Amino acid sequence: MEYEIELEKLDCTQELGEKPVIVAGPCSAESEKQVMETAGKLKEMGITIFRAGVWKPRTRPGSFEGMGSKALPWLRKVKKELGMKIAIEVAQPTHIFEALKYDIDIFWIGARTTVNPFFVQDLADAMKGLNNPIFVKNPVNPDLNLWIGAFERLSRAGIRKLAAIHRGFSYFGPTKFRNVPQWEIPIELHRRLPKLPILTDPSHICGRRDLLKDISQEAMDLNFTGLFIESHINPDEALSDKEQQLTPDDLEIMLDSLIIRQAEVDDKHLMNTLQHYRKQIDLLDDELMDVLEKRMKISEKIGQYKKENNITIFQNTRWNEIVGKRLKQAMEKDLSEEFVDKVFRAIHQESIKKQNKIMNE
Ligand code: PEP
Ligand code: MN
Repeated sequence: MEYEIELEKLDCTQELGEKPVIVAGPCSAESEKQVMETAGKLKEMGITIFRAGVWKPRTRPGSFEGMGSKALPWLRKVKKELGMKIAIEVAQPTHIFEALKYDIDIFWIGARTTVNPFFVQDLADAMKGLNNPIFVKNPVNPDLNLWIGAFERLSRAGIRKLAAIHRGFSYFGPTKFRNVPQWEIPIELHRRLPKLPILTDPSHICGRRDLLKDISQEAMDLNFTGLFIESHINPDEALSDKEQQLTPDDLEIMLDSLIIRQAEVDDKHLMNTLQHYRKQIDLLDDELMDVLEKRMKISEKIGQYKKENNITIFQNTRWNEIVGKRLKQAMEKDLSEEFVDKVFRAIHQESIKKQNKIMNE
C-alpha cells in the first residue's frame, strides 16, 4: 500500500536526540511547584524533553480535567530556566493557539483524539505550516490504518517532524494491563513506515508501577525509539494517574536497570554465529512450508471426498480432537498453549477455506 507520507522528508531525529529517547514528566501539570520540582529532578538525570498534561481527556466526568491555560506559564518557565523542550497534549485547535503563545515545543495527539478523523483533521488544519514535532498516540482501538490516517492528515498539512507513541489498546476482559500492548501493531507500523520514530508509553499500557520495567525492557528489545513515561515528584498525591507514576528517583533506577542491546551487529564472530543460527532457521522454515503444502493438498482431497459424499466441511468433534491433542503436546514441547492454539486455528481456517472453494466449484 502507498501512503501519502513522504517518508524521505520525515525527520524528527534532531529534536528527539539519541536513542533511547526518554520523554518524561507528570501526567498533569498541577502547580508551579510540582512542575518545577519534577522537571528539576528529571533535568538532573539528563532528560531533555518534559511532558505534562494541561487539558486532560478523562474517561468519566468529575475527575480532574487539568489546569488548562493557567499551567502554560509554568511550562514556559521550565523551558526558560532548565532549557528543556516541552511537550503537551492538544485535542482542539484552541489548545494549539494557546500553547503557541507560551512557546510550547512539541504537541501530542491523545489516544481518544486520534480515534476521530474529524478531530485529527481540525488539528492538522490548525497546525498547518508549524515546524514543531507532533507525536500521535495510537487510537484507543487496535486500528492501524486509523493511526496511519492521522499521520497522513498531518503530512498533508506539511508537518514533517512526526513520531508515534504506542500507549496500548482498550480491552474489555480480564487483563493485567490498563491498555493491552498488542506489540504486533507498532511492529507493523514500523514495517510500513520505517522512518517514523516510535516511542513506547509504558505508563498508559501498564496503569501500575510494578509492570513498567518489563514493558520498558520489551520496548528496548524490540528496538523502538524510546520511552514516553510519566514521572511525578510525589505520585501518591497526583491528581491523575497516581498508580502508574514514578518519582524521578525511581524512574532513574528503572532506566538504569534496562538492558540496551545492539540493533546492528558489526562484530565478525557475532555475525558468523548469528548467521549460522539463521541458516538453521531458514532450513526449518523450508521444511515448514513443505509440510504446510502437503497438509493443504490432503485437505483438498478430503474436500473433494466430502463433496462427492455430501458431507459438511466443518465437523466439530474432529476439530475438538485436533485442538485437544495438540494442546496436550504443547506442554510436552515447551510451547505455549496460546501459540499452538493460534497456529492450529490458522491452519484449520485455511483448510476450511480451501474445502469451501472445492465444494462450491
Ligand atoms: C496522557 O499521556 O496523559 C494521556 C492522557 O494519554 P492517552 O491519550 O494515552 O490516554
Ligand atoms: Mn496519564
